Amino acid sequence: MSFGNLNIIAPLQQALAKEGYTEPTPIQMQAIPFLLQGKDLMGIAQTGTGKTAAFVLPILQRMSENYKSSIPGTPRVLVLAPTRELAAQIDQSFATYGQFLRFRHLAIFGGVRQGPQVRILSRGVDILVATPGRLLDLMNQGFIKLKGVEFFVLDEIDRMLDMGFINDMRKIVSALPEKRQSLFFSATMSRQTDDFADRLLKDAVCVEVTPEASTLECIEQRIFFVDHNNKYPLLQQLFKQQDMDRVLIFTRTKHRADKIAEALNKSRIRADAIHGNKSQNQRTKTMRDFKSGNLDVLVATDIAARGIDVDDISHVVNFDLPNEPESYIHRIGRTGRAGASGTAYSFCAADERNFLRSIERLTRMTIEIADHPYHSETAKNAVGAAAEMAIPNRSRGRPGNARRETFHKSGPRKEYSSRRR
Ligand code: AMP
Repeated sequence: MSFGNLNIIAPLQQALAKEGYTEPTPIQMQAIPFLLQGKDLMGIAQTGTGKTAAFVLPILQRMSENYKSSIPGTPRVLVLAPTRELAAQIDQSFATYGQFLRFRHLAIFGGVRQGPQVRILSRGVDILVATPGRLLDLMNQGFIKLKGVEFFVLDEIDRMLDMGFINDMRKIVSALPEKRQSLFFSATMSRQTDDFADRLLKDAVCVEVTPEASTLECIEQRIFFVDHNNKYPLLQQLFKQQDMDRVLIFTRTKHRADKIAEALNKSRIRADAIHGNKSQNQRTKTMRDFKSGNLDVLVATDIAARGIDVDDISHVVNFDLPNEPESYIHRIGRTGRAGASGTAYSFCAADERNFLRSIERLTRMTIEIADHPYHSETAKNAVGAAAEMAIPNRSRGRPGNARRETFHKSGPRKEYSSRRR
């Protein structure tokens, strides 16, 4: 199967060839024919499956079949994404795949001045990729009108709902015209995502790429049972023994992300942390350094890492296991992208044991146990209360901030100190 078989037009095929993409991925094969027919779509797929191109290509194709000149503040395409990084990355995909077409695109998100975004909008933008907050802000100030939207994409709905964007999304949807093509993507399905899609999609096709079939199979996964106070020495040992040249490390808190990056720097490993307390400029610079190879290690919290699109990540290390099993799939999906092989190491202490059980239930896999000097039988065999982590306040809202802060305050143990290094 080639992109030609999918009836993709020449300028898009040319861009794909330039990127070195010859064959469509499974989600692209399934979704593109329906999207070219103008159907609404619910896509169940996580990052790493090629889902961005699965919507960007047919949208660009349909737009170019019906060319219109740009109108200030009135986009034809609206893509909503939960984080700035993901928004920037989707915008970049429109630039890459649309490089031989003449559409104007823009990503807008908070954390940076609105002036430059407003200036570009006033010159006319065809494709707008936005996070909900900044979009509503600019709509309220009259800089954006959604009446001309023909294509509406909601990416990572599950995460948007988790982050408490439901009311923002409702307001945005109510400003859209009735007649439009809507494309929703989610890594997971829940009652809430189902309800949301049911109300907003018309006669939609549902395509699903299961994690087993795509990303997870290409990734070598290992679980390291280890006590909390041995996690950092274990990490150091892995760096000494393995060829770990492009590594993404996940931690539960921003504080730990900073600590690990600092400690690695002291061991002469080029690392930096990316999380919600860093300014947009810092985050952009860190991402650029990681992409260009100036940094070998990026230490991140879940929210900050959404949508990180860096090729050739050799290892993902879950320094802490995520409490939501879906996050495990998102995290390790950063390696082994689009068929490449990758390695995912996960550290599991006793009070994370139940997180591991949930992950194995969701992925329907048993992760192989690594043999290592810091192995903890206590962690491996933990059950009952010992296998539970006390997670303060599991309430909804904006867990990205609220939950993490509480966690941080309630006091991580001091896992590693400079003496150990
Ligand atoms: P996504 O799931 O959209 O985050 O895409 C994951 C990665 O796969 C990105 O780096 C894309 O550029 C890449 N990609 C998208 N389509 C293809 C393809 N047909 N062949 C190979 N790589 C692809």
